[in-house]
Amino acid sequence: MASQPVTSHLLPTYARVDLAFERGEGAWLTATNGERYLDFTSGIAVNALGHAHPHLVEALTTQAAKLWHVSNLYRIPEGERLAARLCDATFADKVFFTNSGAEALECAIKMARKYQSVSGHPERFHIITFEGAFHGRTLATLAAGGQKKYLEGFGPVVEGFDQIPAGDIEAVKRAIGPQTGGILIEPVQGEGGVRVIPASFLKGLRQLCDQHGLLLIFDEVQSGVGRTGELFAYQKSGVTPDILSTAKGIGGGFPLGACLGSEEAAKGMTAGTHGSTFGGNPLAMAMGNAVLDIILAPGFLQHVRDMALLFKQRLAELQDRFPQVISEVRGEGLLIGLKAVVPAGDLVNALRDEKMITVSAGDNVVRLLPPLIIGEEEIATATGAIERAAERLTRAVKEARGAAS
Ligand SMILES: *Cc1c(COP(=O)(O)O)cnc(C)c1O
Repeated sequence: MASQPVTSHLLPTYARVDLAFERGEGAWLTATNGERYLDFTSGIAVNALGHAHPHLVEALTTQAAKLWHVSNLYRIPEGERLAARLCDATFADKVFFTNSGAEALECAIKMARKYQSVSGHPERFHIITFEGAFHGRTLATLAAGGQKKYLEGFGPVVEGFDQIPAGDIEAVKRAIGPQTGGILIEPVQGEGGVRVIPASFLKGLRQLCDQHGLLLIFDEVQSGVGRTGELFAYQKSGVTPDILSTAKGIGGGFPLGACLGSEEAAKGMTAGTHGSTFGGNPLAMAMGNAVLDIILAPGFLQHVRDMALLFKQRLAELQDRFPQVISEVRGEGLLIGLKAVVPAGDLVNALRDEKMITVSAGDNVVRLLPPLIIGEEEIATATGAIERAAERLTRAVKEARGAAS
């Protein structure tokens, strides 16, 4: 009964659970019926600092009382500051702010195409992408993601994306042609099932890009902003991209995305080549700066790594104890996937019955995306919930077997 469709005037594009929340604090959400849930979804890696973080509330209310929006026809000092901080902390020299992940990818794709065009290669507008990828729901990012179920019925697919299997460097070599201008990859595939792309493969891509004059683009919309225990996942792999898109966690719940580029990669993006009405407005910039205040504070990323290690140890124990429910624990930092043996949706539902919310991903995986501020107590609570859910599901599997034999 819980997932009966709710009558509503909202376009029914989401399969919603019949559950609504009215407030949140840290890693906890309170539903409209008063029940409390441990939030290990974080709005799909968005509420990186949990709910109602005092520093974010302070930054939002202070900025709201000063100035919400001015157009990009004027300088926005908060945005210049946020861009400078992102560049100081990464490979990048230039930043474009957006309102979402898909828009950050659109900017990345345009930047790569424009770079090739102004470098004398307008024919190099193709970008190599990988199976299992997810880059967003706009027409171009759907084409980049290449998932048939999302493209079906929406007319001609945007041209210029060549999709191949991830992890096969020979396939990449074969796919590079006179029209290729760049390679786009998530260093950790999120929606595709929390698949960590080996650093050796990313290194291979970097070499091929250098050899052929291609731009390497990392989609860190989900893996960015501290999620993996580094500011960006690429910093752990040791492979530097030319362009990087991020979003989700960067606004801490405020809609914000960013496209970062090296000076060279961004050279074609001159005045008038791109724009966004809302992108980078003062309210959004205040939130981005407030998030970075916390994420870049000394010790914060170490805390993420420590909590990730602890949680993964607990999860590995649960995997050993419940092999009929969990077959693998994978991921990087606090971007964690439980490969399920039962249908992943059953595990998500069983966890929700235990008052813990999680989200499924491709490859029959349950994603655990706690806010990065969690401590040992929340990990213990989560471990208990997973243990009880796994016990119940194991019993159900055994009963079903008993009934069948
Ligand atoms: C969520 C996501 C996107 C799309 O972001 P939106 O804000 O929904 O447009 C793109 N790439 C990756 C890797 C994502 O996880």
